[in-house]
Amino acid sequence: MTDPLFDSPEEEIHFDLFNVKNVSVFIKRDDMIHPFISGNKWRKLKYNLIEAQFIEKKHLVTFGGPYSNHLLATACAAAKFGFKSTGIVRGEPVENQTLMICKLFGMKLQFVKRTDYRDKQLIFNSRFADDADAYFINEGGSGNDAIKGCSELISELKQTYDHIVCACGTGTTVAGLLQGVQLAQTYTMVHAISVLKNAAEIEIGLEKFTKNLCQVRLHSEYNFGGYAKTNFQLLSFIKDFAVSTGILLDPVYTGKMMFGLFDLIEKDYFLQGSKILAIHTGGLMGLLGMSKEFNAMDN
Ligand SMILES: *Cc1c(COP(=O)(O)O)cnc(C)c1O
Repeated sequence: MTDPLFDSPEEEIHFDLFNVKNVSVFIKRDDMIHPFISGNKWRKLKYNLIEAQFIEKKHLVTFGGPYSNHLLATACAAAKFGFKSTGIVRGEPVENQTLMICKLFGMKLQFVKRTDYRDKQLIFNSRFADDADAYFINEGGSGNDAIKGCSELISELKQTYDHIVCACGTGTTVAGLLQGVQLAQTYTMVHAISVLKNAAEIEIGLEKFTKNLCQVRLHSEYNFGGYAKTNFQLLSFIKDFAVSTGILLDPVYTGKMMFGLFDLIEKDYFLQGSKILAIHTGGLMGLLGMSKEFNAMDN
């Protein structure tokens, strides 16, 4: 598989707050990897795609919610690398911008009731039993392959950071970063900003991948009430950040991550002189689903 995607840039951003607190902050622009095969979703998919190609499967079958960045990334990657694709979508049939673009890339959508959605392997086995070309990709890419892909981010870095900050859903991306940092044998501390109310689960999840949790810190106070929950404070932070940097964040993942980073800096969490890297995990199409909320702020 020819890798279409480049090492994403590391860009320094400047705010008065950083000067006052004497820290420097850079962003790893994984949102620039690709408009649709974006951010950590590319990293998580990469080795799944290589495996599918290696065993000559021709049809990617994967899973996600109706605004899933993973479904979108898989739909586009399938088209790009010559696979057919099916997306199993959680919940009642709906139409939205994300799913529209999935369909443009040729993805066939099948909607599955929330209660049935839980057992993904069962869905796959029952619906694709007689399709020898079908290749199962778990929601967000499977464990070890996804972690390996995410760990590669660390070897791309142009300098060593004291702290790396990343949004955390399932924790797979953070597990990959942690693995990368440990392989590189740096002192970097990885900070996971949880976007859901599942801090305990993440901790257990991370323990499955590494016995060494001394280089990771979990921050659970920036989830804004849970997955995809927002408020005025978060949306106006995202707007101010975009105005000051030319960089968009989404309210589900990267907005909460960056809000958390600013708050930690504000509270003198980091030592003076710290060099910090925030991971922009991409997924900006999710913003389209929030146009009502943002438009409502204007008055
Ligand atoms: C999916 C996603 C995440 C969460 O990644 P996990 O590996 O599940 O923790 C973070 N940021 C963005 C933009 C995402 O799309």
